[in-house]
Amino acid sequence: MSRRFLSIGECMVELSQAGDGLLRKGFAGDTFNTAWYARACLAADWSVDYFTALGDDAMSDEMLAFINTSGIGTSLIRRIKGRTPGLYMINLKNGERSFSYWRDSSAARSLAADPDSLREAVESAAVIYFSGITLAILPHEDAETLLAEVRRAKAAGKLVVFDPNIRPRLWSSYDVMHTTISEGARSSVVVMPSFDDEAAHFGDDSIEATIHRYRALGAVDIVVKNGADGVTLNFAGEQTFVPAEKVKKVVDTTSAGDSFNGAFLARYLEAGDAPAAARFAAKVAARVVSEHGALVVKEKLGLDGG
Ligand code: ADP
Repeated sequence: MSRRFLSIGECMVELSQAGDGLLRKGFAGDTFNTAWYARACLAADWSVDYFTALGDDAMSDEMLAFINTSGIGTSLIRRIKGRTPGLYMINLKNGERSFSYWRDSSAARSLAADPDSLREAVESAAVIYFSGITLAILPHEDAETLLAEVRRAKAAGKLVVFDPNIRPRLWSSYDVMHTTISEGARSSVVVMPSFDDEAAHFGDDSIEATIHRYRALGAVDIVVKNGADGVTLNFAGEQTFVPAEKVKKVVDTTSAGDSFNGAFLARYLEAGDAPAAARFAAKVAARVVSEHGALVVKEKLGLDGG
């Protein structure tokens, strides 16, 4: 099978404060962040591709160029006439960050509107990564199209990986959110939830409960992330706890979970040893929370040290 890692979702334009009232422009989004860290950690004989939809404006061109420069393939990305990428802004007030989003009509919402291009992308990959945010931004029937496609990939023996990344505000109702996230997990091999989200929105009273729920749905392997309290793995029924790395000063936790996922999957794909992959990913995520921004460059990830 091809050594291609395909991540599916939305990358947005990010505006953050650069001082003096100036704004800095960047590009980020959960599934793109994971692709970024997978690219940084995977061997060169793996390709990492991003699947989304973009518009035909200058900002879409710029995002495409940025993704490409990151070493991530863009040949599968759909371009839609007259559309634009989504945008969000990070507001900083008294050291507290808050986010404003303009993504309701982003091109990425149509990423599954052309089933043929979606199928072509999924069929070309050995690993397919998507998230609850990917599902949340799609019109209902397109979410069904994507789910059918990943179910097909799972049945064909591909490694389908899902991070529920629960964001209630993106969903029309709790009911739709619960049903669709559960369907995402059912269609996947590996599920990588964050315990605080699962406790808050599915009412899980323990990590065991999260593992049990996702296994009962049909996920094979589960990685439950729990911030500074480490991760619990349940791979083929065998449970292991891997602690987080100690961090001197937490600077910015943006994309902690996304970077953990990318680094974990990169190592897991190379060696098939889930606990070793989790120890490696904990190191990478610890570096990421020690730096500003969602995308920390490879040179700062300490990869040489293992
Ligand atoms: P998410 O961003 O999805 O909520 P978590 O907060 O669970 O994910 O963090 C993901 C991973 O990042 C953790 O498993 C851990 O390895 C690392 N991490 C997060 N916060 C810290 C922290 N304060 N100290 C050390 N590692 C951390």
